[in-house]
Amino acid sequence: MPVTCVFGGQWGDEGKGKVVDFLVRDSHVVVRYQGGSNAGHTIVLGEDRFALRLTPSGVLQGAMGVIANGVILDPSVLRTEVTELEARGYDVRPRLKVSDRAHLVLPFHPPLDRALDASRSDLWRNQSTGRGISTCMGDKHLYEGFRVADLLSARVRSERLVYLLERGNARLRALGAEEVRIADATKEVESWVEFLRPLACDTVKLLREARAAGKEIVLEGAQAALLDVDFGTYPFVSTSNCGVGGISAGTGLPVRAVDRVIAVAKAYVTRVGAGPLPTRDTGKVGALLRERGKEFGTVTGRPRDCGWFDALAMRHVCALNGVDGIALTKIDVLEGIDPLRICIAYEVDGRRIEEFPADIDLLRRARPVYREMPGFSESLRKIRRLEDLPRHAAAYIDALARESGAPIVLLSVGPDRDETLTMGAR
Ligand code: GDP
Repeated sequence: MPVTCVFGGQWGDEGKGKVVDFLVRDSHVVVRYQGGSNAGHTIVLGEDRFALRLTPSGVLQGAMGVIANGVILDPSVLRTEVTELEARGYDVRPRLKVSDRAHLVLPFHPPLDRALDASRSDLWRNQSTGRGISTCMGDKHLYEGFRVADLLSARVRSERLVYLLERGNARLRALGAEEVRIADATKEVESWVEFLRPLACDTVKLLREARAAGKEIVLEGAQAALLDVDFGTYPFVSTSNCGVGGISAGTGLPVRAVDRVIAVAKAYVTRVGAGPLPTRDTGKVGALLRERGKEFGTVTGRPRDCGWFDALAMRHVCALNGVDGIALTKIDVLEGIDPLRICIAYEVDGRRIEEFPADIDLLRRARPVYREMPGFSESLRKIRRLEDLPRHAAAYIDALARESGAPIVLLSVGPDRDETLTMGAR
């Protein structure tokens, strides 16, 4: 397929890094189109483990990586990441392109993120990762952003940078937070010029030409569809459109350019930070999933809430995004759990709900209606063919796809690249 979108179908950490890495070959172009360094995609290559925050996943496989205009870019984070990859033998710079329209996280954005979040009431605190993404995104929409092109233009930089830094400081001051030192901040931002100049280009043109040349393009979503600013569990969401909605605005590709849409989902659910998770299990199963699935934040190290697969939420995501197939990950984590459950509806005040609600209060009070199925005790990690799956595992996957409204096109049975059943995805 020429243009494929791979995005998170739940609340994040679904294993998007592994799926993109599996699908991509060196001829591909892999594009990040939203989010920022608050993402953390994990890739395992043999003995090596990489946690990528900004570098598109397939770059380690020799693909070209594009950080498109929809990404909120912290160049200091990217520079550290690129330097670390180089130290580990991956010369990614020649294959990395950054949009000249991407907005930059300025030094006051991270402390402003944290100060704003701390100033909110306990009930509505978003538990932001504090990396400056949301305040930078806010400034983009308030015409107070600072883009790669602005940085690289000496004239715009001198007109705008100190002015924006001073405005940032005024906001920090108003919140009682420590201000950034203008001289240090200016120096840091100016140090980005040399790093970004060779990487920056008009990625809209680059992608248009890649598409015209018939190159395969993989659009890699960050965060996840239920953290989408419009269709997620607002206000406990990210600041971008994380599903297919973000593609056109975030890359400049026409809406019709996308040929295939794959949602990545775990065989259970997790969530980090605040916000409702209707199928959360606070007992033994939740603890087991966390421990076995290593459910701790890649960037923050925070423990994730864990629970049963939520097919009602997944139906919402599949319908909204026109999902062609689900890449199901971490099914191996369910080994030995019996019975297994799939949430097929919610119940609130005796009323059955089958559509994912906008009302956050309903979501908080929703009681899941479960379908129970027998578990499996066999290890799945060596299995590579669908027909070799244990009967109960196959039945569970089947039910999960049916309840979600999309077929499973890839099944991941372990973190390694080869622990994957393709089922038509590649
Ligand atoms: P991402 O942000 O969506 O890429 O997800 P994360 O990197 O936060 O989390 C995925 C984690 O699960 C990584 O540590 C992966 O190596 C691991 N992983 C991915 N697929 C599987 C799988 O099928 N089974 C197991 N056990 N781990 C997996």
